[in-house]
Amino acid sequence: MRYLSTRDASLSLSAAEAIARGLSREGGLFLPESLPRVGPEEIRALGDLDYPGRAAKIMGLFLEEFSADELAEYAAAAYAPERFGPDPAPLRPVDGAAFLELWHGPTCAFKDMALQIMPRLLTASLKKTGERKQVCILVATSGDTGKAALEGFRDVPGTKILVFYPSDGVSDVQKLQMQTQVGGNVGVCGVKGNFDDAQNGVKAIFSDTALRGRLEEAGWFFSSANSINWGRLLPQVVYYFSAYCDAVKAGLCAWGDELNFCVPTGNFGNILAGWFAKHMGLPVGKLICASNTNHILTDFLSTGVYDRNRPFHCTISPSMDILISSNLERLLFAMTGSDETVREYMDRLSSEGKYSVSGSLLERLQADFACGWSSEEETEAAIGRMYKKGYLMDPHTAVAWEVLEQYRRTSGDDRLGVVVSTASPYKFCDSVLRSIGCRESGSGTELIRTLSRVTGTAVPAPLEGLENRERRFTASVEKTEMTDAVLRMLGLG
Ligand SMILES: *Cc1c(COP(=O)(O)O)cnc(C)c1O
Repeated sequence: MRYLSTRDASLSLSAAEAIARGLSREGGLFLPESLPRVGPEEIRALGDLDYPGRAAKIMGLFLEEFSADELAEYAAAAYAPERFGPDPAPLRPVDGAAFLELWHGPTCAFKDMALQIMPRLLTASLKKTGERKQVCILVATSGDTGKAALEGFRDVPGTKILVFYPSDGVSDVQKLQMQTQVGGNVGVCGVKGNFDDAQNGVKAIFSDTALRGRLEEAGWFFSSANSINWGRLLPQVVYYFSAYCDAVKAGLCAWGDELNFCVPTGNFGNILAGWFAKHMGLPVGKLICASNTNHILTDFLSTGVYDRNRPFHCTISPSMDILISSNLERLLFAMTGSDETVREYMDRLSSEGKYSVSGSLLERLQADFACGWSSEEETEAAIGRMYKKGYLMDPHTAVAWEVLEQYRRTSGDDRLGVVVSTASPYKFCDSVLRSIGCRESGSGTELIRTLSRVTGTAVPAPLEGLENRERRFTASVEKTEMTDAVLRMLGLG
Protein backbone atom coordinates (compact mmCIF):
# COMPACT_ATOMS: atom_id res chain seq x y z
CA MET A 1 0.00 0.00 0.00
CA ARG A 2 1.35 3.40 -0.97
CA TYR A 3 0.97 6.67 0.94
CA LEU A 4 0.28 10.00 -0.74
CA SER A 5 0.77 13.55 0.47
CA THR A 6 -2.33 15.73 0.74
CA ARG A 7 -0.52 18.58 -1.02
CA ASP A 8 1.47 16.67 -3.65
CA ALA A 9 -0.15 13.43 -4.75
CA SER A 10 2.74 12.67 -7.11
CA LEU A 11 4.74 11.65 -4.02
CA SER A 12 4.23 8.01 -3.24
CA LEU A 13 5.85 6.48 -0.17
CA SER A 14 5.80 3.18 1.63
CA ALA A 15 4.27 3.06 5.11
CA ALA A 16 7.67 3.00 6.81
CA GLU A 17 8.82 5.97 4.74
CA ALA A 18 5.67 7.93 5.58
CA ILE A 19 6.09 7.25 9.29
CA ALA A 20 9.83 7.97 9.26
CA ARG A 21 9.25 11.27 7.48
CA GLY A 22 6.25 12.44 9.55
CA LEU A 23 5.26 15.55 7.65
CA SER A 24 5.77 15.85 3.90
CA ARG A 25 8.35 18.44 2.77
CA GLU A 26 5.79 20.69 1.11
CA GLY A 27 3.74 20.72 4.31
CA GLY A 28 1.25 18.00 3.39
CA LEU A 29 0.19 15.04 5.51
CA PHE A 30 0.48 11.42 4.44
CA LEU A 31 -2.43 9.06 4.03
CA PRO A 32 -2.97 5.71 2.32
CA GLU A 33 -4.04 5.95 -1.31
CA SER A 34 -6.98 3.63 -0.62
CA LEU A 35 -8.48 2.00 2.45
CA PRO A 36 -8.32 -1.75 3.00
CA ARG A 37 -11.75 -3.41 3.25
CA VAL A 38 -12.65 -5.45 6.29
CA GLY A 39 -15.57 -7.82 5.72
CA PRO A 40 -18.23 -8.88 8.28
CA GLU A 41 -16.51 -12.22 8.92
CA GLU A 42 -13.21 -10.53 9.62
CA ILE A 43 -14.89 -8.13 12.03
CA ARG A 44 -16.45 -11.07 13.90
CA ALA A 45 -13.06 -12.76 14.06
CA LEU A 46 -11.61 -9.65 15.72
CA GLY A 47 -14.16 -10.18 18.48
CA ASP A 48 -12.31 -13.34 19.55
CA LEU A 49 -9.01 -11.51 20.05
CA ASP A 50 -7.78 -9.38 22.93
CA TYR A 51 -7.01 -5.70 22.37
CA PRO A 52 -3.35 -6.19 21.30
CA GLY A 53 -4.49 -8.92 18.90
CA ARG A 54 -7.09 -6.60 17.36
CA ALA A 55 -4.49 -3.84 17.09
CA ALA A 56 -1.95 -6.06 15.32
CA LYS A 57 -4.60 -7.25 12.80
CA ILE A 58 -5.95 -3.80 11.90
CA MET A 59 -2.56 -2.09 11.75
CA GLY A 60 -1.18 -4.96 9.67
CA LEU A 61 -3.63 -4.06 6.89
CA PHE A 62 -1.83 -0.74 6.50
CA LEU A 63 1.79 -1.65 7.22
CA GLU A 64 3.06 -3.99 4.55
CA GLU A 65 6.69 -3.76 5.59
CA PHE A 66 5.91 -4.98 9.10
CA SER A 67 5.46 -8.69 9.78
CA ALA A 68 2.49 -9.99 11.78
CA ASP A 69 4.88 -11.15 14.52
CA GLU A 70 6.53 -7.77 14.73
CA LEU A 71 3.20 -5.96 15.11
CA ALA A 72 1.91 -8.50 17.61
CA GLU A 73 5.04 -7.92 19.71
CA TYR A 74 4.69 -4.10 19.60
CA ALA A 75 1.00 -4.20 20.44
CA ALA A 76 1.47 -6.67 23.30
CA ALA A 77 4.19 -4.48 24.81
CA ALA A 78 2.37 -1.17 24.25
CA TYR A 79 -1.01 -2.28 25.63
CA ALA A 80 0.36 -4.53 28.39
CA PRO A 81 -1.67 -4.85 31.61
CA GLU A 82 1.13 -3.08 33.56
CA ARG A 83 0.48 -0.02 31.42
CA PHE A 84 -3.26 -0.15 30.78
CA GLY A 85 -4.78 -2.49 33.34
CA PRO A 86 -6.82 -5.52 32.26
CA ASP A 87 -8.60 -3.83 29.31
CA PRO A 88 -7.05 -0.89 27.43
CA ALA A 89 -10.36 0.28 25.92
CA PRO A 90 -13.36 -0.87 27.98
CA LEU A 91 -16.90 -0.07 26.86
CA ARG A 92 -19.25 0.95 29.67
CA PRO A 93 -23.01 0.92 29.01
CA VAL A 94 -24.66 3.91 30.76
CA ASP A 95 -28.08 5.49 30.33
CA GLY A 96 -29.00 4.03 26.93
CA ALA A 97 -25.56 4.75 25.47
CA ALA A 98 -22.04 3.41 25.97
CA PHE A 99 -18.80 5.10 26.95
CA LEU A 100 -15.60 3.94 25.30
CA GLU A 101 -13.02 4.73 28.00
CA LEU A 102 -9.65 5.38 26.43
CA TRP A 103 -7.87 6.74 29.49
CA HIS A 104 -6.62 3.70 31.37
CA GLY A 105 -3.05 4.21 30.15
CA PRO A 106 0.00 5.64 31.93
CA THR A 107 -1.04 9.31 31.69
CA CYS A 108 -4.82 8.91 32.09
CA ALA A 109 -5.69 10.49 28.72
CA PHE A 110 -6.51 8.92 25.35
CA LYS A 111 -3.28 10.16 23.75
CA ASP A 112 -1.66 7.12 25.37
CA MET A 113 -3.56 4.86 22.94
CA ALA A 114 -1.40 6.21 20.11
CA LEU A 115 1.72 7.36 21.92
CA GLN A 116 2.40 4.03 23.61
CA ILE A 117 2.85 2.29 20.27
CA MET A 118 3.94 5.10 17.94
CA PRO A 119 7.58 5.17 19.20
CA ARG A 120 7.93 1.49 18.31
CA LEU A 121 6.50 2.10 14.83
CA LEU A 122 8.76 5.12 14.37
CA THR A 123 12.03 3.48 15.43
CA ALA A 124 11.22 0.37 13.35
CA SER A 125 10.36 2.57 10.34
CA LEU A 126 13.67 4.40 10.62
CA LYS A 127 15.52 1.06 10.64
CA LYS A 128 13.53 -0.22 7.67
CA THR A 129 14.30 2.89 5.65
CA GLY A 130 18.02 2.62 6.40
CA GLU A 131 18.26 5.60 8.74
CA ARG A 132 21.21 5.02 11.07
CA LYS A 133 20.92 8.06 13.30
CA GLN A 134 19.27 8.10 16.68
CA VAL A 135 15.99 9.99 17.01
CA CYS A 136 15.68 13.05 19.17
CA ILE A 137 12.02 13.88 19.77
CA LEU A 138 11.34 17.52 20.62
CA VAL A 139 7.96 18.45 22.04
CA ALA A 140 6.40 21.72 23.11
CA THR A 141 3.40 20.92 25.23
CA SER A 142 0.49 22.71 26.80
CA GLY A 143 0.19 19.77 29.20
CA ASP A 144 -1.12 16.40 28.09
CA THR A 145 0.83 15.56 24.95
CA GLY A 146 4.19 16.12 26.66
CA LYS A 147 3.53 13.64 29.41
CA ALA A 148 2.02 11.07 27.04
CA ALA A 149 5.01 11.39 24.70
CA LEU A 150 7.47 11.08 27.62
CA GLU A 151 5.78 7.87 28.75
CA GLY A 152 5.68 6.54 25.19
CA PHE A 153 9.33 7.16 24.41
CA ARG A 154 10.80 6.48 27.83
CA ASP A 155 13.62 3.93 27.55
CA VAL A 156 12.83 3.15 23.89
CA PRO A 157 16.28 2.21 22.50
CA GLY A 158 17.73 4.63 19.95
CA THR A 159 15.63 7.59 21.08
CA LYS A 160 15.85 10.59 23.32
CA ILE A 161 12.90 12.81 24.15
CA LEU A 162 13.02 16.43 25.30
CA VAL A 163 9.90 18.22 26.39
CA PHE A 164 9.46 21.97 26.89
CA TYR A 165 6.47 23.22 28.83
CA PRO A 166 5.48 26.82 29.61
CA SER A 167 6.33 27.55 33.26
CA ASP A 168 3.17 29.67 33.61
CA GLY A 169 0.94 27.57 31.40
CA VAL A 170 0.39 24.12 32.88
CA SER A 171 -1.52 22.92 35.93
CA ASP A 172 0.23 21.84 39.17
CA VAL A 173 -0.56 18.21 38.46
CA GLN A 174 0.66 18.40 34.87
CA LYS A 175 3.91 20.04 36.01
CA LEU A 176 4.48 17.41 38.69
CA GLN A 177 3.69 14.61 36.25
CA MET A 178 6.43 15.86 33.93
CA GLN A 179 8.99 16.86 36.57
CA THR A 180 8.83 13.39 38.15
CA GLN A 181 9.17 11.55 34.81
CA VAL A 182 11.39 8.48 35.02
CA GLY A 183 13.53 6.98 32.26
CA GLY A 184 17.13 7.19 31.11
CA ASN A 185 16.47 8.98 27.81
CA VAL A 186 14.12 11.75 28.90
CA GLY A 187 14.56 15.46 29.54
CA VAL A 188 12.02 18.04 30.68
CA CYS A 189 12.53 21.77 30.86
CA GLY A 190 10.30 24.73 31.71
CA VAL A 191 10.27 27.79 29.47
CA LYS A 192 9.65 31.19 31.07
CA GLY A 193 6.61 32.21 29.07
CA ASN A 194 3.38 30.80 27.68
CA PHE A 195 2.64 27.89 25.36
CA ASP A 196 3.23 29.97 22.21
CA ASP A 197 6.73 30.87 23.46
CA ALA A 198 7.57 27.20 23.99
CA GLN A 199 6.05 26.19 20.65
CA ASN A 200 7.77 28.98 18.72
CA GLY A 201 11.07 28.01 20.35
CA VAL A 202 10.71 24.41 19.21
CA LYS A 203 9.69 25.50 15.70
CA ALA A 204 12.76 27.74 15.54
CA ILE A 205 14.99 24.82 16.54
CA PHE A 206 13.40 22.65 13.83
CA SER A 207 14.07 25.24 11.15
CA ASP A 208 17.64 26.08 12.31
CA THR A 209 19.65 24.41 9.54
CA ALA A 210 23.03 25.09 11.14
CA LEU A 211 21.91 23.43 14.36
CA ARG A 212 20.35 20.56 12.43
CA GLY A 213 23.65 20.01 10.60
CA ARG A 214 25.60 19.99 13.83
CA LEU A 215 23.23 17.46 15.37
CA GLU A 216 23.24 15.27 12.28
CA GLU A 217 27.02 15.12 12.48
CA ALA A 218 26.69 14.01 16.07
CA GLY A 219 24.32 11.23 14.92
CA TRP A 220 20.94 12.74 15.81
CA PHE A 221 17.82 12.95 13.69
CA PHE A 222 15.14 15.41 14.88
CA SER A 223 11.52 14.43 14.94
CA SER A 224 8.35 15.52 16.68
CA ALA A 225 5.56 13.83 18.57
CA ASN A 226 3.30 16.86 18.05
CA SER A 227 3.25 16.26 14.35
CA ILE A 228 0.39 14.50 12.72
CA ASN A 229 2.38 11.42 11.95
CA TRP A 230 0.55 8.51 10.31
CA GLY A 231 2.02 6.36 13.08
CA ARG A 232 -0.02 8.36 15.58
CA LEU A 233 -3.30 8.18 13.68
CA LEU A 234 -3.31 4.52 12.67
CA PRO A 235 -3.41 3.05 16.21
CA GLN A 236 -6.58 5.08 16.80
CA VAL A 237 -8.50 3.22 14.07
CA VAL A 238 -8.24 0.06 16.19
CA TYR A 239 -10.48 1.11 19.06
CA TYR A 240 -13.46 1.77 16.80
CA PHE A 241 -13.35 -1.86 15.66
CA SER A 242 -12.70 -2.99 19.21
CA ALA A 243 -15.66 -1.01 20.59
CA TYR A 244 -17.94 -2.47 17.95
CA CYS A 245 -16.96 -6.05 18.85
CA ASP A 246 -17.41 -5.30 22.55
CA ALA A 247 -20.83 -3.70 21.95
CA VAL A 248 -22.04 -6.88 20.24
CA LYS A 249 -20.51 -9.11 22.92
CA ALA A 250 -22.24 -7.06 25.63
CA GLY A 251 -25.58 -7.50 23.83
CA LEU A 252 -25.92 -3.77 23.08
CA CYS A 253 -26.36 -4.47 19.36
CA ALA A 254 -26.12 -7.33 16.87
CA TRP A 255 -23.45 -8.05 14.24
CA GLY A 256 -24.18 -5.84 11.26
CA ASP A 257 -26.13 -3.16 13.17
CA GLU A 258 -24.86 0.37 12.71
CA LEU A 259 -23.55 2.37 15.70
CA ASN A 260 -23.05 6.11 16.02
CA PHE A 261 -19.87 7.44 17.60
CA CYS A 262 -19.78 10.83 19.30
CA VAL A 263 -16.23 12.20 19.56
CA PRO A 264 -14.96 15.25 21.51
CA THR A 265 -12.87 16.86 18.83
CA GLY A 266 -9.92 19.26 18.66
CA ASN A 267 -7.34 18.45 16.04
CA PHE A 268 -9.74 16.08 14.23
CA GLY A 269 -7.43 13.05 14.65
CA ASN A 270 -9.64 10.88 16.80
CA ILE A 271 -12.82 11.33 14.76
CA LEU A 272 -10.93 10.92 11.49
CA ALA A 273 -9.76 7.51 12.70
CA GLY A 274 -13.45 6.67 13.13
CA TRP A 275 -14.12 7.79 9.57
CA PHE A 276 -11.38 5.45 8.33
CA ALA A 277 -12.98 2.59 10.27
CA LYS A 278 -16.38 3.34 8.70
CA HIS A 279 -14.97 3.40 5.20
CA MET A 280 -13.05 0.18 5.80
CA GLY A 281 -16.40 -1.49 6.33
CA LEU A 282 -17.22 -1.14 10.03
CA PRO A 283 -20.99 -0.61 10.40
CA VAL A 284 -20.96 3.00 11.58
CA GLY A 285 -23.93 5.32 11.10
CA LYS A 286 -23.02 8.88 11.99
CA LEU A 287 -19.76 10.19 13.36
CA ILE A 288 -20.86 13.02 15.61
CA CYS A 289 -18.31 15.78 15.94
CA ALA A 290 -18.60 17.39 19.39
CA SER A 291 -17.08 20.84 19.98
CA ASN A 292 -16.82 23.17 22.96
CA THR A 293 -17.17 26.98 22.76
CA ASN A 294 -14.43 26.96 20.09
CA HIS A 295 -16.94 25.41 17.67
CA ILE A 296 -15.12 26.04 14.41
CA LEU A 297 -15.60 22.43 13.28
CA THR A 298 -19.31 22.38 14.08
CA ASP A 299 -19.71 25.57 12.06
CA PHE A 300 -17.73 24.05 9.20
CA LEU A 301 -19.77 20.85 9.09
CA SER A 302 -22.99 22.88 9.24
CA THR A 303 -22.15 25.53 6.63
CA GLY A 304 -19.14 24.36 4.60
CA VAL A 305 -17.21 27.47 5.68
CA TYR A 306 -14.06 27.05 7.76
CA ASP A 307 -13.36 30.41 9.34
CA ARG A 308 -10.70 30.93 11.98
CA ASN A 309 -11.29 34.67 12.21
CA ARG A 310 -12.94 34.44 15.59
CA PRO A 311 -12.00 34.85 19.24
CA PHE A 312 -10.19 32.01 20.96
CA HIS A 313 -11.82 30.77 24.17
CA CYS A 314 -10.04 29.09 27.06
CA THR A 315 -12.46 26.43 28.27
CA ILE A 316 -12.66 23.69 30.90
CA SER A 317 -11.98 21.19 28.06
CA PRO A 318 -8.60 22.71 27.09
CA SER A 319 -7.44 19.87 24.83
CA MET A 320 -10.20 20.91 22.42
CA ASP A 321 -9.28 24.60 22.43
CA ILE A 322 -8.01 24.62 18.86
CA LEU A 323 -8.74 26.82 15.86
CA ILE A 324 -6.64 24.94 13.30
CA SER A 325 -7.68 21.32 13.12
CA SER A 326 -4.75 19.88 11.20
CA ASN A 327 -6.19 16.48 10.41
CA LEU A 328 -9.21 17.92 8.61
CA GLU A 329 -6.82 18.29 5.67
CA ARG A 330 -6.60 14.50 5.44
CA LEU A 331 -10.39 14.16 5.26
CA LEU A 332 -10.62 16.78 2.52
CA PHE A 333 -8.01 14.94 0.49
CA ALA A 334 -9.62 11.57 1.06
CA MET A 335 -13.01 12.93 -0.05
CA THR A 336 -11.89 15.00 -3.04
CA GLY A 337 -8.87 12.95 -4.13
CA SER A 338 -7.37 16.25 -5.28
CA ASP A 339 -4.10 17.64 -3.92
CA GLU A 340 -4.78 20.78 -5.93
CA THR A 341 -8.08 21.42 -4.15
CA VAL A 342 -6.49 20.82 -0.75
CA ARG A 343 -3.60 23.17 -1.56
CA GLU A 344 -6.06 25.84 -2.58
CA TYR A 345 -8.03 25.50 0.70
CA MET A 346 -4.87 25.53 2.80
CA ASP A 347 -3.46 28.56 0.96
CA ARG A 348 -6.74 30.40 1.58
CA LEU A 349 -6.62 29.38 5.22
CA SER A 350 -3.16 30.84 5.68
CA SER A 351 -3.77 34.03 3.66
CA GLU A 352 -7.39 34.87 4.61
CA GLY A 353 -7.96 32.61 7.61
CA LYS A 354 -10.90 30.94 5.87
CA TYR A 355 -12.05 28.76 3.01
CA SER A 356 -15.32 27.24 1.88
CA VAL A 357 -16.03 23.91 0.23
CA SER A 358 -18.45 23.19 -2.62
CA GLY A 359 -22.10 22.30 -1.99
CA SER A 360 -21.60 18.74 -3.20
CA LEU A 361 -18.63 18.17 -0.87
CA LEU A 362 -20.62 19.61 2.03
CA GLU A 363 -23.41 17.13 1.26
CA ARG A 364 -20.97 14.24 1.36
CA LEU A 365 -19.49 15.51 4.63
CA GLN A 366 -22.95 15.71 6.14
CA ALA A 367 -23.76 12.17 5.04
CA ASP A 368 -20.97 10.89 7.32
CA PHE A 369 -20.83 13.54 10.05
CA ALA A 370 -23.32 15.12 12.42
CA CYS A 371 -22.12 17.83 14.78
CA GLY A 372 -22.94 20.00 17.76
CA TRP A 373 -21.37 22.01 20.54
CA SER A 374 -21.64 22.39 24.28
CA SER A 375 -21.31 25.64 26.20
CA GLU A 376 -19.32 25.77 29.45
CA GLU A 377 -22.56 25.78 31.47
CA GLU A 378 -23.96 22.83 29.54
CA THR A 379 -20.73 20.88 30.03
CA GLU A 380 -20.72 21.42 33.79
CA ALA A 381 -24.42 20.59 34.01
CA ALA A 382 -23.83 17.37 32.03
CA ILE A 383 -21.11 16.28 34.48
CA GLY A 384 -23.44 16.95 37.42
CA ARG A 385 -26.41 15.17 35.79
CA MET A 386 -24.42 12.05 34.91
CA TYR A 387 -22.77 11.96 38.33
CA LYS A 388 -26.24 11.67 39.87
CA LYS A 389 -26.82 8.66 37.59
CA GLY A 390 -23.60 7.10 38.92
CA TYR A 391 -21.11 7.91 36.16
CA LEU A 392 -18.27 10.42 36.56
CA MET A 393 -17.03 12.15 33.39
CA ASP A 394 -14.18 14.53 32.64
CA PRO A 395 -15.12 17.80 30.85
CA HIS A 396 -14.01 16.59 27.36
CA THR A 397 -16.15 13.48 27.62
CA ALA A 398 -18.97 15.63 28.99
CA VAL A 399 -18.91 17.82 25.86
CA ALA A 400 -19.46 14.68 23.79
CA TRP A 401 -22.21 13.39 26.08
CA GLU A 402 -24.07 16.71 25.92
CA VAL A 403 -23.79 16.76 22.13
CA LEU A 404 -24.98 13.16 21.86
CA GLU A 405 -28.04 14.02 23.96
CA GLN A 406 -28.78 17.02 21.75
CA TYR A 407 -28.42 14.79 18.69
CA ARG A 408 -30.73 12.12 20.07
CA ARG A 409 -33.36 14.75 20.91
CA THR A 410 -33.32 16.43 17.51
CA SER A 411 -32.53 13.66 15.01
CA GLY A 412 -34.83 10.81 15.99
CA ASP A 413 -31.86 8.53 15.21
CA ASP A 414 -32.13 5.64 17.67
CA ARG A 415 -29.01 3.68 16.75
CA LEU A 416 -26.77 2.99 19.77
CA GLY A 417 -24.53 5.99 20.52
CA VAL A 418 -20.97 5.39 21.71
CA VAL A 419 -19.33 8.34 23.45
CA VAL A 420 -15.57 8.32 23.01
CA SER A 421 -14.31 9.16 26.50
CA THR A 422 -10.91 10.80 26.27
CA ALA A 423 -9.66 11.60 29.78
CA SER A 424 -9.94 10.46 33.36
CA PRO A 425 -11.98 12.88 35.53
CA TYR A 426 -8.93 12.94 37.83
CA LYS A 427 -7.02 14.97 35.25
CA PHE A 428 -9.47 17.84 35.69
CA CYS A 429 -10.35 17.67 39.37
CA ASP A 430 -11.21 21.34 39.89
CA SER A 431 -13.82 21.55 37.09
CA VAL A 432 -15.23 18.14 37.94
CA LEU A 433 -15.57 18.95 41.66
CA ARG A 434 -17.27 22.27 40.88
CA SER A 435 -19.66 20.55 38.46
CA ILE A 436 -20.77 18.01 41.04
CA GLY A 437 -21.40 20.81 43.54
CA CYS A 438 -18.29 20.54 45.73
CA ARG A 439 -16.75 23.86 46.74
CA GLU A 440 -13.55 22.67 48.44
CA SER A 441 -10.32 24.20 47.19
CA GLY A 442 -6.68 23.18 47.44
CA SER A 443 -3.56 22.40 45.44
CA GLY A 444 -3.72 20.03 42.45
CA THR A 445 -2.71 16.98 44.43
CA GLU A 446 -5.04 17.86 47.34
CA LEU A 447 -7.94 18.04 44.90
CA ILE A 448 -7.12 14.55 43.64
CA ARG A 449 -7.66 13.26 47.17
CA THR A 450 -10.78 15.38 47.57
CA LEU A 451 -12.34 13.99 44.40
CA SER A 452 -11.65 10.46 45.56
CA ARG A 453 -13.14 11.10 49.01
CA VAL A 454 -16.23 12.95 47.75
CA THR A 455 -17.09 10.49 44.95
CA GLY A 456 -15.87 7.27 46.56
CA THR A 457 -13.88 6.43 43.42
CA ALA A 458 -10.24 5.27 43.35
CA VAL A 459 -7.39 7.57 42.32
CA PRO A 460 -5.87 6.15 39.09
CA ALA A 461 -2.51 4.53 39.90
CA PRO A 462 -0.43 6.90 37.69
CA LEU A 463 -1.69 9.90 39.72
CA GLU A 464 -1.33 8.23 43.12
CA GLY A 465 1.34 9.68 45.43
CA LEU A 466 2.57 12.12 42.79
CA GLU A 467 3.69 14.63 45.43
CA ASN A 468 6.04 12.07 47.01
CA ARG A 469 7.94 11.19 43.86
CA GLU A 470 11.39 12.58 43.15
CA ARG A 471 11.25 15.79 41.13
CA ARG A 472 14.04 15.11 38.65
CA PHE A 473 13.53 18.08 36.32
CA THR A 474 13.01 21.43 37.96
CA ALA A 475 15.04 23.71 35.66
CA SER A 476 13.48 26.35 33.50
CA VAL A 477 15.13 28.56 30.90
CA GLU A 478 14.47 31.85 29.12
CA LYS A 479 12.81 31.35 25.74
CA THR A 480 16.02 32.53 24.05
CA GLU A 481 18.02 29.74 25.73
CA MET A 482 16.10 26.74 24.44
CA THR A 483 18.72 25.75 21.87
CA ASP A 484 21.41 25.66 24.58
CA ALA A 485 19.11 23.52 26.68
CA VAL A 486 18.76 21.03 23.82
CA LEU A 487 22.52 20.87 23.29
CA ARG A 488 23.10 20.39 27.02
CA MET A 489 20.53 17.60 27.22
CA LEU A 490 22.18 15.84 24.28
CA GLY A 491 25.58 16.22 25.93
CA LEU A 492 26.85 18.55 23.19
CA GLY A 493 26.72 21.88 24.99
C1 LIG B 1 -6.27 15.63 22.42
C2 LIG B 1 -7.57 15.50 23.16
C3 LIG B 1 -8.82 15.64 22.50
C4 LIG B 1 -8.95 16.01 21.05
O1 LIG B 1 -8.58 14.96 20.19
P1 LIG B 1 -8.26 15.26 18.65
O2 LIG B 1 -7.74 13.99 18.12
O3 LIG B 1 -7.24 16.36 18.66
O4 LIG B 1 -9.53 15.68 18.02
C5 LIG B 1 -9.98 15.44 23.24
N1 LIG B 1 -9.91 15.15 24.57
C6 LIG B 1 -8.75 15.01 25.22
C7 LIG B 1 -8.76 14.72 26.69
C8 LIG B 1 -7.53 15.18 24.55
O5 LIG B 1 -6.37 15.05 25.22
